[in-house]
Formats: sequence, structure tokens, C-alpha cells
Amino acid sequence: MYPTAFMPELGRAPHPPSYYAETAGALPSHPALKGARRADVCIIGGGYTGLSAARSLAKAGYDVVVLEANKVGWGASGRNGGQIHPGQRRDPDWMAARLGEPATRRLLALADEAWRFQRDLIADERIDCDLAEGLIHGIHKKSWVEEERRTLDHQAKAWGVGPIAFLDKAETAARLGTDAYFGGTLDPKGGHLHPLKFALGIARAAVAAGATIHEDTRALSIRHGSPAVITTPDGEVTADTVVLAGNGYLGGLDPDTDARVMPLNNFILTTAPLDHVPIPGNEAASDTRFVVYYWRMTADRRMLFGGGETFTPRFPADIAGFVRRHLARVYPDLASVPIDHAWGGTLGITVNRLPFVRRPKPNVWVAAGYSGQGVMLAPFAGHILAEAIRGQTERFDAFADLPCPPFPGGTWLRWPTLVAAMSWFALRDRL
Ligand SMILES: Cc1cc2nc3c(=O)[nH]c(=O)nc-3n(C[C@H](O)[C@H](O)[C@H](O)COP(=O)(O)OP(=O)(O)OC[C@H]3O[C@@H](n4cnc5c(N)ncnc54)[C@H](O)[C@@H]3O)c2cc1C
Repeated sequence: MYPTAFMPELGRAPHPPSYYAETAGALPSHPALKGARRADVCIIGGGYTGLSAARSLAKAGYDVVVLEANKVGWGASGRNGGQIHPGQRRDPDWMAARLGEPATRRLLALADEAWRFQRDLIADERIDCDLAEGLIHGIHKKSWVEEERRTLDHQAKAWGVGPIAFLDKAETAARLGTDAYFGGTLDPKGGHLHPLKFALGIARAAVAAGATIHEDTRALSIRHGSPAVITTPDGEVTADTVVLAGNGYLGGLDPDTDARVMPLNNFILTTAPLDHVPIPGNEAASDTRFVVYYWRMTADRRMLFGGGETFTPRFPADIAGFVRRHLARVYPDLASVPIDHAWGGTLGITVNRLPFVRRPKPNVWVAAGYSGQGVMLAPFAGHILAEAIRGQTERFDAFADLPCPPFPGGTWLRWPTLVAAMSWFALRDRL
């Protein structure tokens, strides 16, 4: 079990105050579960993974129930940076050295399919989520520039990655409105969106296809069997199949997932609307730091900036101040700009940063641990779980075959180990 800050023990929490909650429009409510009910599939977690699985299964004619402890999109899916990062979290050479060339090519193809799936999902379901094109990656160390340029060329030739343009220092500065970077890259397939609007749009599509969502309904325990029985505070669901889609918040329901998916906190602020927009092309931006900075403009001219992680269960008391320090390193002129919103959220990471997609029991399926790449990967992972439940397991198998070692030290002892390792890497950023 995790310390309680990672686990909304009682559930029933409203959306935390954030720019997204304030601008998502009407937040539809779905009644809590009262009493017992039957379903073909019970999905635990109402973020991108669970909602996308629900949509795909309901479209295929399954009777689907989603249990969400709090609100639709309450977890990372309603709080993230909204950045769409094409590709897998690991670069092709890293994957090839560990997984071999065929598996690497398969994973790259799956990442393209995930990108296409997201575009189709937004278009087909007419999800208005402020989708914008382009992702710039700033290089924060001068000595890394040539290496980055060589890697880009090599990946294009050897692995067909891209096209991704290299930007010199002047171009990077012009596009990002800061001279904090020594060069950069521009990926036209990347982009950004309003994450909570995106989650609510998938939920709307799932319900339109026939799925039922119960908010304020935490799954307390699972009695495994065929069927399985999922207990909630005021009821229970008897289901032939269970999908675990709680990601960084799932703690406690499945020991195997707990051992392999570690919750990690990350923080975001939005400034007051700016007179001068530093990113004229409206791309998303991130950088080469190990504890990555990521930022972009919102539709109403605010800078939305994310950076800084904590590995302890508690969020900093002053999140705005915590993130502002990082913002000021990239945009010194914004060091004292008014900050209108600041919030944190919890994501799931794995040891090797590849997603954790498994079938822990014959009728239990899980997808989690997208390690900061879930805006694009999680909706796709939910869809391929649905596909596998329907009997088409090819794409599921490609992910399920990936190694995913447990974090060293077990559920409790791994905390100090992780803190030490992460702090070392964070320190390297400052060298
Ligand atoms: C601050 C922050 C910034 C991020 N930025 C980016 C980014 O820019 N780009 C990117 O690609 N990724 C980003 N991520 C990661 C991304 O948001 C996640 O990978 C993705 O949202 C995961 O979706 P999910 O549905 O698997 O999990 P979540 O969205 O976390 O949903 C899990 C849900 O399950 C519910 N739940 C858990 N346990 C139970 C239970 N027992 N019963 C009922 N409900 C339960 C929770 O309440 C929660 O709503 C960021 C994450 C954070 C926190």
C-alpha cells in the first residue's frame, strides 16, 4: 500500500482547482453506484486509459461500467501538460540494444498507430480540445548540440523517425522567445491539447456508445473469479472482465502493478494572460533536462509551465513558488509575473520507462506506467486492451511482451532508492 496522499482513500473528491478545471466548460456528473449490478466489463479508473477502453468496448456491443473514485479526468488525465510526444518514451537505439531490431520497429509502428488513433478519436468524436500542432525540444547544454544533431540524422536514416527539423540557437530563440537553449528540434507531429476537455470528450463518446460511468465510486476490493466481484462503498459490480486503469493512483488493488508502476508527482502553473506571446508558432515546448521542463501557451495567452518533481507523497505547500523557480530559469522576464493557477498531479512511471501492459489474470487486464507519455499512449493503450478483450491480441501482445522489472526495494523500501537515484539525475541537470 502507498502512503495515503497517493490514494484518495475515500474518493469523492472534486477536481482540484486548476486552469483546466476552470476552462473545461460544464463538467457533466455521473451518479455514484448504489446497489449491485452486472456488467460484461468493469473498468476501474476514469482517465484516458479507462475511458478509451470503455468507448471501444461499448462500440463493440459490450455492457461496460466505469468506476471512478472521484471525477472523470480527476487524475493525471485532467491535470497534465497536454503535450503530445510522438514516438515511444525511449529512443530507437536504446530499445534496439535491449529488445532487438524487430521489436523496436514494431514499437515505432505502434507509436505511429497511437498518434493516428488520437487524431482519429478527436476528429471522429468531434472533441473540442484546443488541439495545436508542433513540438519544440530545447537543448539546454552547449556540448550536447552536435550529438543531438547527429542523433536526429541517424534516427531518420536508420529508423525512419521524423521528419524532425534541427533548429540552431537563433531559430530556437526566435521560436521559444528565450535564449536559454543552444539549439533545438521541431517535430511537426507533436503538439498540445487541453487535457481535461480531451478526457471529457472521450467520456462523452463512451457514454454515447452505451457505457455507464459511476463517479464518486472507488473500487475497494476485487474478489477474483469468473465472474469477478468488485466492491464499492455503496454497492458492487459482478463482471466477466476487469480492466485496471488507475495508473499512478491505483495503489493497493493489484500487487503486481504496485511493484512495477511507481507514482511520481509533477507540477504546473499558469500565468496571468500575457501581453507578449513568447511562442509565436504556438508549438508545445520541452527540453533535454532529465527532470524535464515543458511549456506552451494556452488558448487565452497564458504561459502554462510544468517542471519539478517530488518523490515523496506530499505536494509542496507552495506549488506556484516551487514551479516559478523553474520558469524563471527559462524566462527570467516572467520571474515575477502574476500566477493565476498552480497544481500538481501523479503519474505512473516504470523502471525502464516502457508502458506496463499486462493480463495478470485470465479475466483481468491492466495498462499503466506511460512514464510521461500518456497523453498519446494512454487512449491507445485503452483501445488495445479493448481489442484484446474482444480476442484480437496482436497489438496487446507487442506491449505485454516488453520487460517491466519491479522497482528495487519493494513497495516501501524503493522510496529512498528512487529518491537517491532521481536526485542524482536532477543534480546532473544543474552541472
Ligand atoms: C502534472 C502532470 C503532467 C503531465 N504531463 C504530460 C504531458 O504533457 N504529456 C504526456 O504525454 N503525459 C503527461 N503526463 C502523464 C499523463 O497525464 C498520464 O500518463 C495519463 O493521463 C494517464 O492516464 P490514465 O487514464 O492511465 O491515468 P489517470 O488519468 O491518472 O486516471 C486514473 C484514474 O483512476 C482513478 N482510480 C484509481 N484507483 C481507483 C479505484 N480503486 N477505484 C476507482 N477509481 C480509481 C483515479 O481517481 C483517476 O481518476 C503528466 C502527468 C502529470 C501528473
